Amino acid sequence: MTTDHRSCDELSPIRIRLEELHRRYQAFHEGTVATYIPELAHANPDWFAICLATTDGFIYEVGDFAQPFTIQSISKPFVYGLALEDNGRNALLTKVGVEPSGDAFNAISLHKTNGRPLNPMINAGAIATTGQVRASSPTERFERIRACIGRFAGRPLEVDVGVYESESRTGHRNRAIGHLLRNFDVLTDDPMADVEVYFRQCAISVTCRDLAVMAATLANHGLNPMTGERAISGDHVECVLSVMASCGMYDYAGGWIYHVGMPAKSGVAGGVLAVLPGQLGIGVFSPRLDDHGNSARAIRVCEELSRLWDLHQFDPPPGAHHAMRLAYTAADHGSTRSRSAAERACLRRHGEGIRVVELQGSLMFSSTERIVRDLSNRELPSFLVIDCHHVTEVNAAAAALLFELADRFAARGTTVLLTHATHLAPLEAAFRRHESRSPAESRLRFSTTDDALEWCEDAVLEKAMPSPPPRTLDRLADHGLVRGLTATQVERLAAIMKPMIVRRGDRLVTAGDEAASIILLIRGLASAWNPIPGGRDRRLATFTAGAMVGEMAFAEESPRSATVIAESDVECLVLQRSDFDSLRDTDPGIHAVVWRNIACAIADKLRKANHDLGVYDHAPLSRG
Ligand code: GLN
Repeated sequence: MTTDHRSCDELSPIRIRLEELHRRYQAFHEGTVATYIPELAHANPDWFAICLATTDGFIYEVGDFAQPFTIQSISKPFVYGLALEDNGRNALLTKVGVEPSGDAFNAISLHKTNGRPLNPMINAGAIATTGQVRASSPTERFERIRACIGRFAGRPLEVDVGVYESESRTGHRNRAIGHLLRNFDVLTDDPMADVEVYFRQCAISVTCRDLAVMAATLANHGLNPMTGERAISGDHVECVLSVMASCGMYDYAGGWIYHVGMPAKSGVAGGVLAVLPGQLGIGVFSPRLDDHGNSARAIRVCEELSRLWDLHQFDPPPGAHHAMRLAYTAADHGSTRSRSAAERACLRRHGEGIRVVELQGSLMFSSTERIVRDLSNRELPSFLVIDCHHVTEVNAAAAALLFELADRFAARGTTVLLTHATHLAPLEAAFRRHESRSPAESRLRFSTTDDALEWCEDAVLEKAMPSPPPRTLDRLADHGLVRGLTATQVERLAAIMKPMIVRRGDRLVTAGDEAASIILLIRGLASAWNPIPGGRDRRLATFTAGAMVGEMAFAEESPRSATVIAESDVECLVLQRSDFDSLRDTDPGIHAVVWRNIACAIADKLRKANHDLGVYDHAPLSRG
């Protein structure tokens, strides 16, 4: 384990299983260490390591995980990735194919007429690929390769000069391949220079831990999960993984994908690297090779791991299926904006026209297809809010489907709004495009669903209420706090209340302060905010004229629980506790009625909260 985590993952069943696997295969001695590169014969046949790296950057390491060895053929997919970046897919395909050869790694398998190597994972294709890396000199070509592989490993890598020289002295078969490639103009300059660069790239020294990180970087779409550095553009990762899947294990490629089911690559020094896209990178190292030239232990270990944890690629993870987390309307759950009784009644009547769908998990074709099917088979609402708070990722295809849906809905008069999506770049971009086609005044992206709901509710109220309720209260007599008092009693109460003006952006109330007063809003807009984990604030409520602020803490005599900020210049009336208390002796009737009104205001809030909570009893629109 990495030292940081040693203490806490002692109990991890994953670590325990890896150690058990390592113990068991330590006794497995089949295969022989490669000797055709003389220097490789010096490897200790008992070296054995297993490493797993996750796409969120955690590494499990067992055995000789820090033992250096040469990368050999495992360099091939990474150099192929670099050549793809330099040349693009189509140009590179004219030089090197992508068909499995079914031949040994060192076979001279070139296309009969054009001399094009069958794939970049056998030596012929790899040497041709190395020659396609852009550079003005062999040294520069090698340095670019070394830097690229280093980005995958997350550290600078060195060449094992002994192994390089050993292969360079003996690698006549690869030289023959180089000359053939030159003959067919697959290589155009000095082919021997390219072969030397290839020998050097094969002699780059890595550890089993490096292999796991390199694999995890491929699993993570080209972004190294340890360093956060991009090793290769994500667009090319699928090409690299494809050739690994079909050709990475030479003439065992078919058996490997059948039994293990992961794109992989092996090298004659005993390394094997396997990738579970989106999830995991695996590195296994043990120098004894089987007849195909693949590490015998590594093959067994990977087969077991794949069975043990269902890692086979064609055994896809569930998750595509429950993308609709919750569906409700504004009649079930409104915004936190405080509304008058008339407004609330209106929203209960018309709130069905504002529909919210909360999506979750990973949005890809299959999960999005269900959402799209569900939404397009129902009666269209006036507003559709797509809440992505619980969406973890979205691919370009899913973003495009939702964008098209929004466009088509808009053409039929449904406004589609997107919330909580700033972490989903493709979706944000799609909706920005959608927004740019919509009428200028419409805002379609909101940071929270609460904001979007408030916006939709305002639009509904504007249309449905011919004479909107006044935005200001002129007299205390209109306020809920004094309901049931006579005109003279209201006047007596008014006499002990003090007017207060709070400028936009300033605080009416600060969380933690003593609750020495109740504040009545007469004019303007104010919002209550509560801190939530992650250092952000969540809006609890928005108050307008007629609202009572701070009555809960006032009643409990507890500190203020939220901070209330003026969103516009706000006019209020403040009732101080000491003044209110003195009413108990001078005007017990007023005192009692005001208390009852405070209790009613609290009951009203509780009722709304209970009603809103009912939304979680709703079944999602679609399941399974
Ligand atoms: N450098 C080695 C060779 O070309 C790489 C082969 C391998 O790892 N399979 O022979």
